[in-house]
Amino acid sequence: MNFHQMSMVQLAGKLQDKSVSSVELTQYFSDRMAKYDGQINGYITQTPELAMAQAQAADARRAAGETGLLLGMPLAHKDIFCTQDIITTCASKMLANFKAPYNATVVEKLNAVGMVTLGKTNMDEFAMGSTTENSAFGVTRNPWDTAAVPGGSSGGGAAVLAAGLAPIATGTDTGGSIRQPAAFCGVTGIKPTYGSVSRYGMIAYASSLDQGGPMGKTAEDCAHLLAAMAGFDERDSTSAEGDRPDYVGSLNAPLTGLKVGLPKEYFGEGLSDEVRAATLATAAELEKLGATLVDVSLPNTAHAVPAYYVIAPAEASSNLSRYDGVRFGHRCDSPKDLNDLYTRSRAEGFGVEVKRRIMVGAYVLSAGYYDAYYLKAQRVRRLIKEDFMQAFESCDVILGPVAPTPAWKLGEKTSDPTAMYLADIYTIPVNLAGLPAIAMPAGFAGALPIGVQLIGNYFSEPRLLNVAHQFQQATDHHTKTPAAWA
Ligand code: GLN
Repeated sequence: MNFHQMSMVQLAGKLQDKSVSSVELTQYFSDRMAKYDGQINGYITQTPELAMAQAQAADARRAAGETGLLLGMPLAHKDIFCTQDIITTCASKMLANFKAPYNATVVEKLNAVGMVTLGKTNMDEFAMGSTTENSAFGVTRNPWDTAAVPGGSSGGGAAVLAAGLAPIATGTDTGGSIRQPAAFCGVTGIKPTYGSVSRYGMIAYASSLDQGGPMGKTAEDCAHLLAAMAGFDERDSTSAEGDRPDYVGSLNAPLTGLKVGLPKEYFGEGLSDEVRAATLATAAELEKLGATLVDVSLPNTAHAVPAYYVIAPAEASSNLSRYDGVRFGHRCDSPKDLNDLYTRSRAEGFGVEVKRRIMVGAYVLSAGYYDAYYLKAQRVRRLIKEDFMQAFESCDVILGPVAPTPAWKLGEKTSDPTAMYLADIYTIPVNLAGLPAIAMPAGFAGALPIGVQLIGNYFSEPRLLNVAHQFQQATDHHTKTPAAWA
């Protein structure tokens, strides 16, 4: 097996027994990136020189006796995490030349354990989108079918994992942006409980929903990266206090007695036959591993998308007001006056989808409409959370599809934003409730992978990772790689 076909934990074993050095591993991935990324455009920025310097430092640390599992491991960061020495674009023309004066907490933590930054991955502009088509730096292609979308907004991260251009990656999930690209590209990703991973230095889209997390080939890989990413951060006012659970320790626990809930609203109209079949096959496999299946109901599911597309744009319109052409980011040429500076800088710097959301957000927050839209959406949000709490009275985890269909073709939904928004129906409720959920490969529809998700109660990531790991020990969907990249 080649390095790019191995899981991160397998590669860590090679670093630990010194059969490969971090410099060698980093060179291997940097070479593949230089050679192949042109075909998928998964990276906005490649950083081979920084990576080599970090790899040398990691090898020196290992030679001095350090043994950490992540020490010297190459990694791809979503281009939403601020990095001090490399530009951070958030896939926007607005930030095309932006060099942050500091590292995001996530970047700082992963640097500290000795991880190596291969580059910054492509995404939808400001994480707004489901296909990575909204990037100002060109679309990312799905390695399984280069005419298909990789999902989004963390489409670059998912695609580089599938193409073997990184062993592990960071992502963020506001309404599905880790899980849905993971599903479309046949990889694993977990959106942690809101507040688990610091948002400091993670460029804000919708602050009450945004959450960083790992994407990898396996649940086990994700568990190890999450353990290094998570933790209380006093610089993030919404960071959850106290210690994080042990994400790795219970991966091998048996599933005997596990109660898996199947929400009837997640199997209704709009779900494709292939995704339905893969989800039910996953349920049957979990049953074989000792779980019991129970029927549950999440009655407010249909209201989640409309509520999200009020709340997320409202928060975005506020968060994105900081891009004014004055302090940082794109500035228009020779402004006539201050107003001209604001309006032209923003008109030139933001893409169509971002502008659409700023307009919707400003509208729903305006006097006279606030109660009718924003306040009502917050009430729906509460009901969605209560649905989940009710369901968890009769099950430990909820199993459902990630998206109604496998990846669609590039350009297929770009002219119909509503159709695009509706495809987020199974992922968005989780963010509205602030719960953790893991997406994992569960089969194929022709050449395209299908993903399913497991949703858990607050801070139940160890259980989700355990269930996904046991499923992956018993199945081989996650080991498949696209033929063109083998
Ligand atoms: N597709 C959703 C949106 O466009 C979710 C994106 C995300 O999770 N960042 O907002």
